[in-house]
Amino acid sequence: MAEYLASIYGTEKDKVNCSFYFKIGACRHGDRCSRKHVKPTFSQTLLIANMYKNPAHDINNRMNEAQLQNDFDLFYEDVFIELAKYGEIEEMVVCDNVGDHLVGNVYCQFRLEESAGNAVTSLNNRFYAGRPLYTELSPVTDFREACCRQHETSECNRSGFCNFMHLKHPSRQLRRELYEGQRMDIREKRREEMRREDDERRSRDRDFQHERPDFKCSPERPEIKQEY
Ligand SMILES: [Zn+2]
Ligand SMILES: [Zn+2]
Repeated sequence: MAEYLASIYGTEKDKVNCSFYFKIGACRHGDRCSRKHVKPTFSQTLLIANMYKNPAHDINNRMNEAQLQNDFDLFYEDVFIELAKYGEIEEMVVCDNVGDHLVGNVYCQFRLEESAGNAVTSLNNRFYAGRPLYTELSPVTDFREACCRQHETSECNRSGFCNFMHLKHPSRQLRRELYEGQRMDIREKRREEMRREDDERRSRDRDFQHERPDFKCSPERPEIKQEY
């Protein structure tokens, strides 16, 4: 029985836990959902809710496609660089959905749970573009599972109101620069660490040699004053 429950956990067959919250980290029913949203205590993934304000969703928008892409690229770069300060990023995605629970959501999966935890604590005290950030650990483990297949291959008939992720992608060049830049930074940090460790080992060896008692000449003998 326990095995069966574990195998259906977070799927549509699970009558207790919400499959949408489990897979996508957000469900349109929010706190009023009839199924449980089990918030993780530890996770590699964090969610910053409703962070990106896409100008295309504004009825007064006058930007063309290229300007909109540029606006998004600047946002993506900003957030990526900020989040990379907490640790190595495996993947960062931004939702292009328009439903309240997914609009502008940023998900970031780190290599280490510790990085995600530290980022959540610190970002909840921060503002972006004049608005406070709402950040939490997310149960999402696989963005492919969370994404709408129809949207990836053709047109999704639910358009922006779909309950699976419709992602907005940064331009290819920016994406490459950010992820490669991060890899190089990490490599450089590792090299620095190795250099430091090497230096420390060397200075330890030197100290050790110093500690060895050297054969000093015996202290000068006090002059013996001979009195006759
Ligand atoms: Zn739910
Ligand atoms: Zn869809």
